[in-house]
Amino acid sequence: MTTTLLEFADVHKRYGKHHALRGLTLSVPAGTVGLLGPNGAGKSTLMKVLLGLLPFEGTAAVLEHDVRAEPTQIRARVGYMPERDCHLLGMSAVELCSYAAELSGLPPSEAMQRAHMVLEFVGLGDKRYQRIDGYSTGQKQRVKLAQALVHDPKLLLLDEPTNGLDPAGRDEMLALVSSLPSRTGCSIVLSSHLLHDVEKVCERAILMHEGKIVYSGTIEALRKDGQKDVYELRVKDGEERMQKALEGRGLRVEREGLMLVVHVKDARPTELLFQVAAAEGLQVRHLSPRRLTLENAFVRVVNEANEAKAS
Ligand code: ADP
Repeated sequence: MTTTLLEFADVHKRYGKHHALRGLTLSVPAGTVGLLGPNGAGKSTLMKVLLGLLPFEGTAAVLEHDVRAEPTQIRARVGYMPERDCHLLGMSAVELCSYAAELSGLPPSEAMQRAHMVLEFVGLGDKRYQRIDGYSTGQKQRVKLAQALVHDPKLLLLDEPTNGLDPAGRDEMLALVSSLPSRTGCSIVLSSHLLHDVEKVCERAILMHEGKIVYSGTIEALRKDGQKDVYELRVKDGEERMQKALEGRGLRVEREGLMLVVHVKDARPTELLFQVAAAEGLQVRHLSPRRLTLENAFVRVVNEANEAKAS
């Protein structure tokens, strides 16, 4: 069984003088991965490298197949949903999907069968013979997902899959995408500037900034790491008193409704908080390390990268 999804060693990409990817070295296990970063960070360039569409320096492998030496194996195993439209004028959904399946190596009859199946799955069954040019934005996004899925790939590369969708359409698209790993066992790399999309679909994240990887790991760890020494605390009927008691011990405390956010640098922080509550005769209802939103964690990682560059 393949367990390594992506593997790069010292990958560089230069567009003339512009150094767009600056020495990426990384190994990512199978699963759901968000590729996040501000505009210009290098996400699309990295996707194109993985798809074998751009020359680059260094080595890169997708599903343990070398990007340069094994393009056919990669095409058979990877589905790609590009950011922009990818159909030819006048084509119907069923034509596009069966064509995409044949390009990935399926024989024509199987390609056609898969095209019908996958269009049903994305909810375009009754529109499959209509020209894609006449589709709404939401339907165009669905047909792009369908053509990426048609050959039952082991890895789906999705570039901004919710672009142009309204909130309801976005939720539907994310629900479709999130259902795929358990249905088909595929892995997903989702490139997006929308943290919300990544959080809905992915367990891991790769954060890119100015052509470098500034974080790779689980989203959970990224959010936890973000706020060391900060705890969320709720007590039964006495948050005012608890806040005063903590501040009396020199701790910084912020209020979020009934929740106290306590900054505590101590070898045994939770014991200390329990002790203060006990001394006040208060019952602790909730105590946990503060988790950052993905957005805050992202800002923190990028700030740290900027500070490291400046020093
Ligand atoms: P992202 O997808 O994160 O927005 P890109 O990979 O598109 O970033 O771009 C990374 C950097 O490389 C940007 O500064 C962009 O201007 C530059 N770049 C991208 N494509 C080209 C190209 N074909 N020629 C020259 N520069 C490019």
